[in-house]
Amino acid sequence: MPTPKPIHVLSDYVINKIAAGEVVERPASVVKELVENALDAGATQIEVEAVGGGRQLVAITDNGCGMGRDDALLSIERHATSKILDVDDIEHVATLGFRGEALAAVSAVSHFTLTTRAAADEAGTEVTVVGGKLSDVKDTGCPAGTRIEVRRLFFNVPARRKFLRADQTELVHIRQMFIVYALAHPEVGWRLVVDGREAMRLAAGASLADRLRDIVGADLSRQLRPVGIKRHDVSVHGYAGLPAAARQDRTEQYIFVNGRPASAPAIYHAINEGYHTLMPPGRHAPIFLFIDVDPEQVDVNVHPTKKEVRFRQPGAIRDAVIEAIKHALQPAPAAAMPNSLLTMPPPLAASTAPTATQARLLIPDLPPPRTFAFPGLPMLPPAPPATPIGPGAALPPAAPTAQAAPGAAAAPWLWCRVLGQVGGLYVVLETEDGLVLMDPHAAHERVLFEQLLKQYTSHAVKSQGVLAPETVELLPAAAEVVRDNLPLLREMGFGLAEFGGDAFIVDAIPACLGGVAAQAVLAAVAESLSRGGARGGDAHWVEEAVAQAACKAAVKANDVLRLDEIEQLVVALASAAMPYTCPHGRPTIIFTSYGELNRKFGRA
Ligand code: ADP
Ligand code: MG
Repeated sequence: MPTPKPIHVLSDYVINKIAAGEVVERPASVVKELVENALDAGATQIEVEAVGGGRQLVAITDNGCGMGRDDALLSIERHATSKILDVDDIEHVATLGFRGEALAAVSAVSHFTLTTRAAADEAGTEVTVVGGKLSDVKDTGCPAGTRIEVRRLFFNVPARRKFLRADQTELVHIRQMFIVYALAHPEVGWRLVVDGREAMRLAAGASLADRLRDIVGADLSRQLRPVGIKRHDVSVHGYAGLPAAARQDRTEQYIFVNGRPASAPAIYHAINEGYHTLMPPGRHAPIFLFIDVDPEQVDVNVHPTKKEVRFRQPGAIRDAVIEAIKHALQPAPAAAMPNSLLTMPPPLAASTAPTATQARLLIPDLPPPRTFAFPGLPMLPPAPPATPIGPGAALPPAAPTAQAAPGAAAAPWLWCRVLGQVGGLYVVLETEDGLVLMDPHAAHERVLFEQLLKQYTSHAVKSQGVLAPETVELLPAAAEVVRDNLPLLREMGFGLAEFGGDAFIVDAIPACLGGVAAQAVLAAVAESLSRGGARGGDAHWVEEAVAQAACKAAVKANDVLRLDEIEQLVVALASAAMPYTCPHGRPTIIFTSYGELNRKFGRA
């Protein structure tokens, strides 16, 4: 039997060092804690500095309320906070912090200097702490507000130091943290200084749209659509990216709950759901969502470093987010949607009219560009041939946005010129904003999908009899799906009867799918649904079935298309509600803006 060891109470010094391990993981966590304090102090200007990936120095300067000498000394004590008094206060705490742990933890594992002055005080205070031990306190002259310098993080915790990554990696985390808070607070002015050089400067008093454009750039912000709904007690606003801007991870997804950076499985599910049929699984559109709910509906008292929040009623949040996204991606009234959500600088074509030298380079016998009116109007007569024909010279007269009825889609182009097909497949288009490559199969799928789904949901599917009814023999699992869903398939426009065993007689198919073989369409729909398990709500089932049918009926990759067929497709796609992806989420078009081309050719 081992002899029991005596128990003793740990000293504050040891406790702080242990706690520091929980609160401070890396230099970016220092940025998080200090930036949150600056925001809680009401700062309107915050500067973040990092040297050597934040290991050598992280410094945060703010113009917030500052502290007097007594509070400055108290602030570095463990469990010292000005933000709550009692545990019930946590329920409606409006500040980002409330535990009173951060300054104690950070100063326990670094060389820490706090310089602060309350506006009303004459002199400021400078407090120095080294590895948790107070080493100096003195009066100092300083501007109102607070500056905290954290040097040599983890100098006294070699185990933690070993876990830090290369400076560059730590810097990426710092930058990310900076961006999160800069997005959450466009009203605040921000500056990020890296190794002595200004890396980002964001003006105070910005709108969310301005802040987004400053951070993510003009190209991405063109692909964002405004989100804004309120359902009962949940309000969701922000911006949702078009599927074409999706990527493989969630790094461009920013979620804020009651102003705090947050994550929750319920929200991610809801986002996926909102993008259902617009994106393949595993792709994630950029999204900037601000969710506001009654504070009592959210539990923020989870682990201090975790962004995860818990909701009392996750269902309500989920429904609101799904609806908000679906709504945002739907066509918006043309007047409010001049091709993009944010107020953009004038399109490149208008601002850089070709000069005489450029005009000489133009190829003289390209087909003229066509002007398109949306939505769904037939192609307008070709623009009058301009002399000389070319991108600039041939700019059509005022684009016909004004004619577009409310409900018009955010058309991907107002005019375009079909230049031809490359690789025996891709269609090349010139538009007012740039160059477009279109996959005709994916585009056709999208067009058929929307037609059929629209007819289905308005109970107006046109069914078309087939000349000779076909017997379709299905695999057992597929046959079962069809049997279980006969009424639904009939509403979709299939004329169907059981023929015994796993066979069915098909005597009609949805008219918009044109003359495809009934056998092929039905088998594809049934088999894919049986593979997918055909579960989920009816809405899902129908969307999936319609998507399959559209895929089967769409032009095939190696079909040769005539110019007029391509033009029809271009018009139909541009009038689609969601023209950027096929129903399985693959892109229909790849767009390269003239801005991007100019950059690539070094014509800044
Ligand atoms: P918490 O933020 O949870 O209260 P901290 O350890 O982060 O705990 O900060 C302790 C206290 O120090 C805060 O409650 C606040 O009163 C004060 N404080 C910290 N940073 C600042 C700042 N930048 N400006 C003004 N006061 C601050
Ligand atoms: Mg704090």
